[in-house]
Amino acid sequence: MGFVLQTLDLARPKLVAPPNLAGLTRSQLAQALVEAEVCAPEKARMRASQLWRWIHHFGATDLDRMTDVSKEMRVKLAGRFTLARPEVVDRQVSRDGTRKWLIRFAPGIEAETVYIPDVGRVGALCVSSQVGCTLNCTFCHTGTQKLVRNLTAAEITAQVQVARDDLGDWPRVGDKGTDPERALSNIVFMGMGEPLYNLDSVAAAMDVVSDGEGIALSRRRITVSTSGVVPQLQPLGERTQAMLAISLHATNDDLRNELVPLNKKYPIAELLDAIRAYPGISNARRVTFEYVMLKGVNDSPAEARALVQLIKGIPAKINLIPFNPWPGSPYQCSSWETIERFAAVINRAGYASPIRTPRGRDILAACGQLKSESEKLRASERRLLSAAS
Ligand code: SAH
Ligand code: SF4
Repeated sequence: MGFVLQTLDLARPKLVAPPNLAGLTRSQLAQALVEAEVCAPEKARMRASQLWRWIHHFGATDLDRMTDVSKEMRVKLAGRFTLARPEVVDRQVSRDGTRKWLIRFAPGIEAETVYIPDVGRVGALCVSSQVGCTLNCTFCHTGTQKLVRNLTAAEITAQVQVARDDLGDWPRVGDKGTDPERALSNIVFMGMGEPLYNLDSVAAAMDVVSDGEGIALSRRRITVSTSGVVPQLQPLGERTQAMLAISLHATNDDLRNELVPLNKKYPIAELLDAIRAYPGISNARRVTFEYVMLKGVNDSPAEARALVQLIKGIPAKINLIPFNPWPGSPYQCSSWETIERFAAVINRAGYASPIRTPRGRDILAACGQLKSESEKLRASERRLLSAAS
């Protein structure tokens, strides 16, 4: 029987890639070392810490860089694990310095990640949490792509690692004294997908990138944007202490039902109650309301006044996002004058209302323009597979 099984195994192509150490949380890393019998259980925490520093502080993708890890152990690790990054299938740089990577995590599983310089303290990375999205906000390009699947914590973390590789943002061994200013200072979950439909992976990825002995990004520099998955707001705050951004876009349920169909499930009043109860919300930790400016749809001064009324008492800022068009999009962006008039109403009421300068529009990297080619690839891969069989 054993022989038969073995024969079958050998006959099958190797489909499962070796586990990638770079995507594990600290405790998973220690556990993986024990399970693979790379070290004794009582040494696992110490060994994991040693590896952790190489992987997450220095960004090592090659075990041989780990000079303080014995040769014997490196050989054992190499036989069982990988540190490889996912493949970058496309890389584009905008005239304004914005960079966009299309990353292939597995055949047919691709997502976009965007680096925007001069946002946040130094520069922000916009990461994806899902391939596609189950929600169909009518102004969003991603919303036209069906959900392919949730990204794993490892795949979310890999987006940060790929960006740091490309930006040359890892410290060098031997760097001493004050840490030079790194290019990537903030993370926003504003790429493809609805992060609160994938909270476990989002939270685990945040544990990895905020770890003090690794990338050490402060949780206050990590913002999660949601279209308003009300029951997940409290768990998000408790588990991650992330900054909160809410895609509001309308001030009454009728219009929001149309623009953000999830509103039919969680209407504005319920959403606002959940925001008021968000853990840690204060004047020092304000909620960001995102409001996309759609010509003739939601951009009147009356709506600006309604917005101010609606969020009264919530420590907030309002981010006005000029609508970014995409091929076939049913809306137009409000005129600059209209946006400024809208902003003035909000400002007078005492709220900061920065108008988000569209970044990377020339490479379709701006908010809501992201869409991977996964569906198409999946179809072509299916064809390849059926041709091969
Ligand atoms: N799913 C989450 C996060 C990703 S979308 C959410 O909806 O919040 C990130 C932000 O881009 C959201 O505020 C979204 O409403 C906005 N957005 C989507 N499409 C856009 C477009 N075409 N132009 C401008 N902003 C857009
Ligand atoms: Fe999904 Fe956010 Fe786009 Fe809506 S705006 S379709 S929730 S990614």
